[in-house]
Amino acid sequence: MDNIEFRERQGDLTAAQRTEICNAFRFALRIQRLVERDMSALWDTPRQNRVRAIHDYPMLRRWIGVQRKHKRLRRINRRIRKLRRWIENRRILVVFHNNADFVCRDGRRGAVRGPRYISPVLRFHMCARFFANPAPSRRGDLIIHELCHEMGMMHAIQDDASRILTLAAGRDNKKVTRNPLTYQGIWREYAGDPIP
Ligand SMILES: [Zn+2]
Repeated sequence: MDNIEFRERQGDLTAAQRTEICNAFRFALRIQRLVERDMSALWDTPRQNRVRAIHDYPMLRRWIGVQRKHKRLRRINRRIRKLRRWIENRRILVVFHNNADFVCRDGRRGAVRGPRYISPVLRFHMCARFFANPAPSRRGDLIIHELCHEMGMMHAIQDDASRILTLAAGRDNKKVTRNPLTYQGIWREYAGDPIP
């Protein structure tokens, strides 16, 4: 991944750790391509059949539900493509912080600082907790989640994965389409480690 650069603050990243971070981005990209492939196939289904076709993609349906609005599904499709394009093409600056740093005080593993529509560089804040769990699916889903924030997606108060799943299955599934947990959840399905 030669679009990834590192900037360390106080922390010392070893060469091996840098490789681990690059591998996580690479894995995130590989899985996101699988997500995109299914989403594109769904989107390419003739419009009148599309609502029915969602049932052919249970891993997508679990997180987005049966979306009946053409425009809303188009937005989901665009976000999924954009996640792949960003990991693949954008300059990504990984800013590494020590555990004591503000980023990790609340137990988060990583953070971004809100949407940047002007900067072509994605800044990705990361702390030592990133290395705590070696599972590729737990590292990759962090990347997807934080990139969603970088796109400007936000949380509703006190949302979590189970609430997203409940919303997706119900009538109010428009509420899941702009939440980082949705795209993280989809990605985990395709990583073979679905969020229960
Ligand atoms: Zn978040």
